[in-house]
Amino acid sequence: MEHTDSKEKNNPQEILRSVMKLCAGCDVCRTLMEEDCAFFPELYRLWDQEKEQKVSITAAQLRHMTDLCTLCGICPCPKIPIQVMKAKSLFVDTEGLPLATRLLTSVPRMAKLAGSFPRLTRVLQSSKATAPLLRKALKLHPERKLPVIPAHNFFHWAEHRGLTARKEGSRNVTYFAGCTAGYLFPEVGRSVVEVLERNGVAVHVPPQQCCGMPHLAEGDRDTTLELAQANLDELLAAVQAGDELISSCPTCGYYLKVLLKERAHYSEAYKKIEGAKEAATASPPSGQGIDKLKALKRYDPKNIYCDDGYFASLDPLSRINLAEHLSDAGEYLARLHDAGQLDARFSAISKRVVYYAPCHQREQKIGSPYLDLLGLIPGLTIEPVGNGMDCCGMGGNFGFKASFHDKSLDLGRPLMEKIRSRNPEAIVTDCLSCRLQFGHTLPYPVYHPIEMLAMAYADN
Ligand code: SF4
Ligand code: SF4
Repeated sequence: MEHTDSKEKNNPQEILRSVMKLCAGCDVCRTLMEEDCAFFPELYRLWDQEKEQKVSITAAQLRHMTDLCTLCGICPCPKIPIQVMKAKSLFVDTEGLPLATRLLTSVPRMAKLAGSFPRLTRVLQSSKATAPLLRKALKLHPERKLPVIPAHNFFHWAEHRGLTARKEGSRNVTYFAGCTAGYLFPEVGRSVVEVLERNGVAVHVPPQQCCGMPHLAEGDRDTTLELAQANLDELLAAVQAGDELISSCPTCGYYLKVLLKERAHYSEAYKKIEGAKEAATASPPSGQGIDKLKALKRYDPKNIYCDDGYFASLDPLSRINLAEHLSDAGEYLARLHDAGQLDARFSAISKRVVYYAPCHQREQKIGSPYLDLLGLIPGLTIEPVGNGMDCCGMGGNFGFKASFHDKSLDLGRPLMEKIRSRNPEAIVTDCLSCRLQFGHTLPYPVYHPIEMLAMAYADN
């Protein structure tokens, strides 16, 4: 940001005004994000209106603008959505968090309810009398398909399999399943374990909390920081014991590897490490916006090189440590393959599928490891679909909301059209939030790539 003083730091309107000024001065996202994001078009609309027609931007409009950022991460400057979330959390400090938001963000709580009272949950979800009331109470769109929460989640299964107790092996991995594989699609979590075990990996599933992304996106700062601290403690204890960390969820991975460590390299603690100061100041933040700012001479390293972000209250070295030890499951398997240690005896799967690399996987800058891995399955024809700016539009919980449902479908339409034009037998994507949007919009079955690998192992 151009300038941050204490007034700005604690005033959501000032923060958003500062974001608007920066992005209006830079202007890259006016055209770049025109179709793929709901936030930037609104930012430029309000800005232009104020400048050209002298219509002042209201506090309500600024507040509404924060609800349009889904934290997809495809815009060039990671600090912008984080600043937006910071402003949102300050609004929430005074407004409080609606009950519907609290319930919607707590997948573990919903899953526990479904597990404890399966019949009651089914009735509530499907009865013509109660389902609309439930949707209204949770502010869900009436036409949005809702996932069926299975009675037995992945964590029950892992406990039953003895995976919650760590066993020393020749290769040890601690698996962070996240809420979607943990509670909504346990078959994905099971596939991760099966594929890893097939390759001689001892898998450990420790106690874990939601990564915190849904809470961050809703402006619930206290819960976000509490969850982050709990996961940092548990996962770094596993690192200490000698485990590698993996995640199969691109959103958890993006959050834990990219967002959580944002600006940690500019912390005093990191700079004190010998040689780190130079490293931290020698590598300027990336993004087309920064280049443009430099050209506009608004780029001030003093204000950029400091750990003043959303997660600054958490130990920066722990945030860096976690990011350095966590791999996407596909990345981990690709490393095994490169080292000649992956069991590549796959059975044939005769299918023509499209593979979509989701936003949060792309933003981890790890390439598309699953494309190569899936290419090892005989008979499987894989066509990559979508470019670097395509997004399914679901935005985690945002697509469920009555207020965002239509926008969510609009944002995802270009990608859906590309997939329809291929008419595949199935869609393969690592993001389970995209899976929900594809399941809502398209007639094709959807798989996580690791499910395809598990299927190809199953018959031999
Ligand atoms: S994170 Fe996504 S939704 Fe938010 S401003 Fe960036 S592109 Fe838009
Ligand atoms: S490139 Fe960065 S500074 Fe420029 S408009 Fe986009 S988010 Fe804003």
